[in-house]
Amino acid sequence: MIEQILFLIVFFLAFSARWNWWRTKQKGIAVLMYHNIGKVPHKDNKSLWVSQTKFEKQINFLIKNGYTFLGFSDLGKKTYPEKSVLITFDDGYKNNLSALEFLISKKIKANMFLVYNAIGKKNYWDENSPRKNAEEKLDLQTLKKLQQTNFMEFGAHTMDHKNLTEIKPEEVKYQIAESKIKLEKTFNTTIQAFAYPYGAGAFTENIKKEVEKTGFNFNFSVKQNLWDFKNWNKYKSIPRIFVRGDDFMLDFKLKITRGKSRL
Ligand SMILES: [Zn+2]
Repeated sequence: MIEQILFLIVFFLAFSARWNWWRTKQKGIAVLMYHNIGKVPHKDNKSLWVSQTKFEKQINFLIKNGYTFLGFSDLGKKTYPEKSVLITFDDGYKNNLSALEFLISKKIKANMFLVYNAIGKKNYWDENSPRKNAEEKLDLQTLKKLQQTNFMEFGAHTMDHKNLTEIKPEEVKYQIAESKIKLEKTFNTTIQAFAYPYGAGAFTENIKKEVEKTGFNFNFSVKQNLWDFKNWNKYKSIPRIFVRGDDFMLDFKLKITRGKSRL
């Protein structure tokens, strides 16, 4: 009897550590962050790959539960429907195409952070990683076709996917400002959103100021949470929700309501 009770307690604690149902529900926009869509083709960080099936399941769940899908151009308002979501893809991978087409077929806005110099190329920046040059990027022609559907919007993710904390201030300036200028010219639109390459800690207060000074109204980090837009101003970075390849539907549901699913 005691063993059974102990077992139940241990199970309960382990479950609660892995799936944080006990976190309080948060209010705000769920900014989802995806990288690659599909099966992991080589030795890579598995969490960066979400299968097409999983992706469609997640989107169908959002549709079924009455979520409003936003694009970058919808941002900056005072209020949003309580269940609002912004779907973002980082880096502009070619393997995102089927996911993008799926969203467009459902009339859902997709948002993509592009690395300007990498358009139509490979991820040349992943030094010392099996990922280096492995993944092709969407080419300009395809990106323009997607833009014409009016369900695809772009944000900037620097010129060369540099870690902005590791380069000189002039280069930081160039990586940020030039990406805005080049993308606006290329896509004939205003680029308001910027995402820092690499994980948490890949920017400083000064780098953030530079992004704001350049004219970006929204700077996105990879800090995990919902975006409490009511208590936000453009000097604050916007948290996102990293949808991992090994997430279960339970993780997804916890993340979009609580910001996080695990410890
Ligand atoms: Zn990136």
